[in-house]
Amino acid sequence: MDKNLILVLNCGSSSLKAAVLDVHNKKLLISCLAEKLRDDDAFITFKMDGNKHKLALEAEKDHVAAVAALMDELKALHLYEKIAAVGHRIVHGGEKFTSSTLITPEVKRDVEACIVLAPLHNPAHILGIEAAQTAFPDLPHVAVFDTAFHQTMPPHAYHYAISSTLYTRYGVRKYGFHGTSYRYVAQETATFLGRDPNQLSLVIAHLGNGASICAVKNGQSVDTSMGMTPLEGLVMGTRCGDIDASIFSFLNENANLSIDEITRVLNKESGLLGLSNLSNDCRMLEEAAKFGHKGAQLALDVFAYRLAKYVGGMMVANGGIDALVFTGGIGENSTLIREKTLSYLQVFGFTVDHDANMEACYGRPGIISESGNNPIAVVIPTNEELMIALDTAQLANIN
Ligand code: ADP
Repeated sequence: MDKNLILVLNCGSSSLKAAVLDVHNKKLLISCLAEKLRDDDAFITFKMDGNKHKLALEAEKDHVAAVAALMDELKALHLYEKIAAVGHRIVHGGEKFTSSTLITPEVKRDVEACIVLAPLHNPAHILGIEAAQTAFPDLPHVAVFDTAFHQTMPPHAYHYAISSTLYTRYGVRKYGFHGTSYRYVAQETATFLGRDPNQLSLVIAHLGNGASICAVKNGQSVDTSMGMTPLEGLVMGTRCGDIDASIFSFLNENANLSIDEITRVLNKESGLLGLSNLSNDCRMLEEAAKFGHKGAQLALDVFAYRLAKYVGGMMVANGGIDALVFTGGIGENSTLIREKTLSYLQVFGFTVDHDANMEACYGRPGIISESGNNPIAVVIPTNEELMIALDTAQLANIN
């Protein structure tokens, strides 16, 4: 029997996402999402071949219960015995991890040591690793870090202009996230353009609910917009991105909000949602903007303007640009955001080909700048699960 499937796990504080992939043909066989973990109404939804079914979780209704339900499903589908290794998405690897790694007791301790940097995510990852190691005790488990790709940033890019003691004592610096997506998209872009990835200056905008941008020079991250946490940088679905740090004390003193409340407002009630007072969902805002909703129009304008300013900054980081790459749900599908952003970037010689822009949607890659124009703008779909599966297969020696 061929044992060549990879299980990819992504554990959040109250959710678990999983996917089973065949790394030979790069196909997704089944995916699932467990939600509301530790709530009475926790449930898991499985998706396979376009069909979905939903189950209530049993017993403790936690990560262990979700992994148990996933195992039962995989056994029923005769996929369980074909799983060769498990890849775990880990949000924060601090300065310790510069690439993906096989999980050992020491690696687990190092992931735990990074909890201070990602207090919501890393504890959930540890729960996921332990539940999966119990379910698949004989398989290799691999950790793939969102931060690892950005460990090549030079000190002038990752230092904040604050006392360097705060860096040495507490690790206060820019780490960056979405690294797995950037690594995948950088490789795919080079392949799509028929270029050597080691001689290519890319600025990649990963625009999903969380959004960030990265300067990738010759295959390496040299700067990125997210910081010590994913709050910094671009406008996001519900996160504010860049903000004057003094707003914290201002709101504390004038709006009578505690540090926890301000943190929640900036992470959960800001960005597109806060600006529009309508939704965090770009597609819904585009619809509302068409009918004249002023908040939706403002949210989309601020989003595109901030993004365009960051593209300029990332061009400085790279010392030039061959291609601006759009990816993530908004980057891959929003013709409006792409067009608005590129119109701000005319100053650098960017153009938009209207028809090509409309064509490169729903998973179709494409060059969307006018033919023969330099620099080019291109749409390349991301696939973080596949990147995690490929790393896992490589480290676990699955051929
Ligand atoms: P996540 O970060 O949760 O993985 P996604 O990458 O799936 O998010 O991106 C979700 C975002 O993509 C949402 O704001 C959604 O509205 C937007 N999006 C998806 N399809 C379209 C579309 N056709 N037009 C505009 N925005 C879209």
